[in-house]
Amino acid sequence: MSRVAYVNGTYSPRDEAVVHIEDRGFQFADGVYEVWSVFDGRLADFDGHMQRLHRSLNELKIEIPMTAAALGVVLRETVRRNRVRDGIVYLQVTRGTAPRDHAFPADVAPSVIVTAKRIDLSKGDRTAVNGAAGVTQPDIRWGRCDIKTVGLLPNVLAKQAARERGAYECLMYDEMGLVTEGSSTNAWIVDENGKLRTRDTQANILRGVTRAAILKLVEAEGVELDERAFSVEEAKKAREVFVTAASSFVMPLVSLDGVKIGDGKPGPIATRLREIYLEQARREAI
Ligand code: PLP
Repeated sequence: MSRVAYVNGTYSPRDEAVVHIEDRGFQFADGVYEVWSVFDGRLADFDGHMQRLHRSLNELKIEIPMTAAALGVVLRETVRRNRVRDGIVYLQVTRGTAPRDHAFPADVAPSVIVTAKRIDLSKGDRTAVNGAAGVTQPDIRWGRCDIKTVGLLPNVLAKQAARERGAYECLMYDEMGLVTEGSSTNAWIVDENGKLRTRDTQANILRGVTRAAILKLVEAEGVELDERAFSVEEAKKAREVFVTAASSFVMPLVSLDGVKIGDGKPGPIATRLREIYLEQARREAI
């Protein structure tokens, strides 16, 4: 849990940190967010998340609240004040506070909120060694999932469906039965023919920063990649299924809707990618 939060220029104890009831993040989910993983007090994939933040803000015509360097200072200071060695730092930028009206208000300053919390990384490592369960359900989200907005209710419902079925993640699928992504992760398979597959980002999915980092590693490892959507049925017949995100890194799924994937154990490609991704993320964190 975050003990100190940054809200619009002030660091306060978490329980005293508040935003206005007319903040457009609260009223309309009119805001965006980013999550960086933290290793040894340093931020992983710093530039990738910052670039996606700028893209999300730009798509919604929300003013960039401060330079990347200044934001970096706030993120690191929040990490420091919360004494986070390993964990995550969360940033939310909303359009700001204004009397409730659907259209954009004039001359409003964006709200900036930062929290940070510790995570016991060994817990995720243990889950990854045995592999996790996945479930599936239809994707009911809007048409701009490439923007990382705080409007996450369909994702919340999908994650809750996973939890209620004792699973780690819910993979969502479109009207063609093709997997879009996880509720808070990008989805991958090693198909029956041994090809690594993940949906291309021209579709309505988030351009995962971890996904992009993994794609580079895949190339360097010489793994054959087919950036193409796969169906739920293909996933159930796949040799491996795994998901990626800043907070999960690479997490193997060893069952999907109760169907065993491969031999029911994490496969070699997911295991190797987790290892080399973590190695690189730790090394390059700033
Ligand atoms: N897809 C969705 C819907 C997400 O919410 C997230 C992360 O929050 C991801 C994918 C993974 O993105 P990243 O690797 O940038 O954390």
